[in-house]
Amino acid sequence: MPTHIVVAATPTSNGDLHIGHMAGPYLAGDVYARYLRATGASVIYTTCTDDSQSYVVSTAHRLGTTPAALCTTSTAAIQRSLAAMGISMAGLPPIGETYRRSVLDFATELHKAGRFRKRTVRLPVATGTGRVLFDGLITGTCPVCLAGSCGGACEACGHPNNFDELLDPHSTMDPGGTVSYQDTPILVLPMEEYRAELTAYYAAREGHWRPHAMQLIHELLAKPLPEVPVTIPGTWGISAPFPETPGQVLYPWIEAMPAVMYSTWWSAGKPASDYDEHWRREHGAEVVYFHGYDNVYHWGLMDLVLLLAHGDRYVTPKVNVCNEFYDLAGEKFSTSRNHLIWSVDLLAEVPRDLVRFHLALTAPEQARTNFSREGLRDTGSRRLGEPWNALAEAMSLALNDVTGSLPVTPDGRRRAAAMLERFRGCYELPGFSMNRAAETVLTHLTRLRGLAGDPRITLGDLLLEVRTLLAGAAPILIDVAERAAAAGVDLSLAAEVPHTVAVFDLPRLPSVDARDSVLAATR
Ligand SMILES: [Zn+2]
Repeated sequence: MPTHIVVAATPTSNGDLHIGHMAGPYLAGDVYARYLRATGASVIYTTCTDDSQSYVVSTAHRLGTTPAALCTTSTAAIQRSLAAMGISMAGLPPIGETYRRSVLDFATELHKAGRFRKRTVRLPVATGTGRVLFDGLITGTCPVCLAGSCGGACEACGHPNNFDELLDPHSTMDPGGTVSYQDTPILVLPMEEYRAELTAYYAAREGHWRPHAMQLIHELLAKPLPEVPVTIPGTWGISAPFPETPGQVLYPWIEAMPAVMYSTWWSAGKPASDYDEHWRREHGAEVVYFHGYDNVYHWGLMDLVLLLAHGDRYVTPKVNVCNEFYDLAGEKFSTSRNHLIWSVDLLAEVPRDLVRFHLALTAPEQARTNFSREGLRDTGSRRLGEPWNALAEAMSLALNDVTGSLPVTPDGRRRAAAMLERFRGCYELPGFSMNRAAETVLTHLTRLRGLAGDPRITLGDLLLEVRTLLAGAAPILIDVAERAAAAGVDLSLAAEVPHTVAVFDLPRLPSVDARDSVLAATR
């Protein structure tokens, strides 16, 4: 069976993860990875901090620290947040010499194969400091949608802007200073040379991506494809080893593809093989990405072209699962305006299963959605916690003094199989949806509460349906699932529906009301 490689967008190490990040790629990738494991699949779920990004430089400047120090504290914070949310990764790989060598091997092979071109481009420069401005070092107006945007790609419309394309540019580190331009020779990767492969790739994925993200791919393919910078004048990042561009660094986004190959290798326990072994085509791994709409250009085009530029050496992703923005009280999460809730703060106050379930239920899968504290409280108590614990109580009463296994009727097996099929439909690609999986849990919870105590259903049939509900909820409700698994309950989502079911106690969910000071205090 081929290994599944599930990749969540690489977090920039310029701060911690807030619940908008979590409700985006990290929880979704985790739920998908946990589902796959419950079907018996071998899964590596991974990501890698993006230390070379220019946003590390601009944030460090704003905070009055160094980029290196910011990376260290941010990586530790991100690691803590992922662990606190129960994101089932091996951890974050170290960004050290092995990482650097992996990135350079990847880029040097493309250089040797003649994939890069030398171009003289017009780059914006902060007049006062002479610093070349790109990505997080520059803000202005997006030339495509006219929203405010940083360099590189626009968060609002998702379209790229490179070199001198951003309108009304300002340096983020010197907002009052002027910006001039200088002609600079750099290396680029011309994406237009891969148009035929890209067109065929996306023709095969019609209907497999969420519509908004696929619309952006169509918009990008309808125009001449940009030339991606491979090197850029800068002081932070990995020195580019190419004779054409002495003194330049690798453009940070060039690192992401080898970075996740390296993190896959590291997450597999650093086997005695090359960093890119798991991604080689002959092993037939199935790769799935989880990332935000604002990264469609990067993961959907740039990183795909970086794979294609290696010929047929690597697998390409089966599908990208793209999320939209999560709002807080009707406005976008914002670190600079402190309009956010850090994951660790929320998890310190509200039991993890309730947080995961509410984020799964409300995550922005097809359009922007909103997080509210009232909504979390309502989900945690009225919609999920109370009916779940009422069902657990009813089952305890019904099973009082019953031990061993109970027989299941053919009708009971059919009903359990139908439930299993609905859950699989929520978790399988391309229709993967945490929203629908969580809604399916609530639907069956209401139904099974009604059935508990109904003389028309046998106890064995009811118990099998409750077990199927628990197994279907397990990729989201991980602590309840772990307690059940520790007690020997079979939570496999692949097994045939059995003819008997072993008696078990449905673990209770903790209450949201007992520990809600963050919810109350910050409303
Ligand atoms: Zn835009």
